[in-house]
Amino acid sequence: MAEKIYDTVIIGSGPAGYTAALYASRANLDTLVFQGFESGGQLMLTSDVENYPGYRDGVVGPDMMDDFEAQAARFGAEMRPDNVERVDFLTRPFRLWAEDEEEPVLAKSVIIATGAKARWLGLEGEQRLMGRGVSGCATCDGFFFKDKKVAVVGGGDTAMEEALVLSKYAGEVVLIHRRDQFRASKIMLARARNNPKITFITDTVVEDVLGETSVEGVRTKNLKTGDVEDLAVDGFFAAIGHEPATSLFKGLVDMDAEGYVIQREHTMTSVPGVFAAGDVSDKRYRQAVTAAGDGCRAAIDAERWLDEQGEADHAEDPGVWVAEKDQEPAGSWTEDREASAPTL
Ligand code: NDP
Repeated sequence: MAEKIYDTVIIGSGPAGYTAALYASRANLDTLVFQGFESGGQLMLTSDVENYPGYRDGVVGPDMMDDFEAQAARFGAEMRPDNVERVDFLTRPFRLWAEDEEEPVLAKSVIIATGAKARWLGLEGEQRLMGRGVSGCATCDGFFFKDKKVAVVGGGDTAMEEALVLSKYAGEVVLIHRRDQFRASKIMLARARNNPKITFITDTVVEDVLGETSVEGVRTKNLKTGDVEDLAVDGFFAAIGHEPATSLFKGLVDMDAEGYVIQREHTMTSVPGVFAAGDVSDKRYRQAVTAAGDGCRAAIDAERWLDEQGEADHAEDPGVWVAEKDQEPAGSWTEDREASAPTL
């Protein structure tokens, strides 16, 4: 029997991955999703999601991801709860090795949707109270802190932005930074400084997040004086940056300096046939709904690209295809296809 080659293999199972799977399988593409051992992405760490359209009364993050998975599976997307350990994008079909497996999975196209993770301080209380007052996303969770007091840790633009978003809900926001110099842009820093609800504590680190079943405070240490203090707060937001989950693809697709995958033409990466969707290539919006939208775009792009491959006689020779495509002006491959866009 000839070896099976999937039309598209999706790596990642957050909103981007599952939405890509939904669109791809519904377009009759033979689709496989590598969900990873921790399937569901960042939403598995979120409690109530109230800003995803369609869930009028809100939804618990993990329940929402169950819905996403079931909807994609309904149209035939295969799910594998494995991590991908290695990929080969140099030859086509592309090859992907699941952890502990010798035989690769073969794919005509690949959608990278491995997401990004908020960086955490690594404190015991941080993990224990995750989703119970500890959060990495003010836009997602700020609403739950109406008139309360919250702490934000960090000194970059993310921290300023998180503090500003939180100031719309919370009664008081304390921004705690380990130095007295800030990486944040001047304008963002000035906005935060001029906001009457935001106070700054500098040269200070958070040593633990306190509380039994929900956040009740943070233990801080002033690095100049050595003074340790417990500060009563109802919420704790880590805003010390994000890390895209892209180590697997280093050197294979173009990334920016921070390791985010660059979408070259629409959602296609520097490798024709390999697409990226969601937080793995988005450091600006980072929302479930934007990631889902991006997953949809990637699946449509993959389908159009595969369609184009079917028409190209030399499609099986990636070297030839890539070389010829390289000579075309950027943006040409999809524009050429607009007239024959599939109906989804
Ligand atoms: P940054 O790397 O710019 O800042 C991270 C901050 O967290 C720094 O102040 C750093 O402190 C602090 N930090 C890191 N690790 C620890 C730790 N273990 N304990 C305590 N503090 C820690 O990341 P951002 O996410 O803020 O920004 C990333 C990029 O995204 C930037 O280019 C930024 O401009 C951009 N961005 C732009 C936005 C906008 O324009 N609206 C919004 C958000 C991000 P230290 O300074 O001491 O190293």
